[in-house]
Amino acid sequence: MALRRIIMLGAPGSGKGTQAKFLGDKLDLVHISSGDLFREAQKNGTELGKLAKSYMEKGELVPDNVTVRMVVDHILPLKDEGFILDGFPRNLSQARALDRALEEEKIPIELVVNLKVPQDILLRRLSGRRMCRNCGEIYNVYTLPPQVEDRCDKCSGELYQRADDTEEVVRHRIEVYTKETQPLVGYYQHRGKLSEIENENDINVVRENLMRLLE
Ligand code: AMP
Repeated sequence: MALRRIIMLGAPGSGKGTQAKFLGDKLDLVHISSGDLFREAQKNGTELGKLAKSYMEKGELVPDNVTVRMVVDHILPLKDEGFILDGFPRNLSQARALDRALEEEKIPIELVVNLKVPQDILLRRLSGRRMCRNCGEIYNVYTLPPQVEDRCDKCSGELYQRADDTEEVVRHRIEVYTKETQPLVGYYQHRGKLSEIENENDINVVRENLMRLLE
């Protein structure tokens, strides 16, 4: 039976957002990005959005209690559909909280894909990243440019650079990733759920490798 509950792990700039969207479409899974949920909350001016902003602009993690509740609330209604998580969990305490919530519902995570990318490539990718203000589609001025400059191919929305993609914040985000998120690789490996894919290559090669993994 096809896998229905997947986590996409990787550093900022590893391509996990792009690949999670691709997989979500391909496998008909709901793509849940914690970063997108926080950006949406900011756009809507909610209390959650205001709280998240202060952490996000510094490249810090939003506190676990708020983040876990937000993501779990999104997952539980999708019990029967399946989902792909992108950007969550980001530390061991979030991973344990997620496991507890999913075990209670008898819908455990089935696969964790770790996208591996050397640090120098991460920096270049993040500085070139652009996002659609309207639909959230991700581009890269070096590796995945839009057909028309600064316009989304899908919806013609305006493309922008995230405030946390500046070099200083990016360096800090990578440090936070190394300290907080990287231990999750061992956590899921120990549980027999981890698969790793190099994501230095052409985006299409990575997609093929991903699909092969899921066959
Ligand atoms: P992303 O779009 O995944 O790179 O996330 C952007 C920012 O949102 C991060 O740098 C954090 O400030 C916040 N964020 C996203 N996901 C989480 C999470 N699981 N835990 C804590 N903060 C998060």
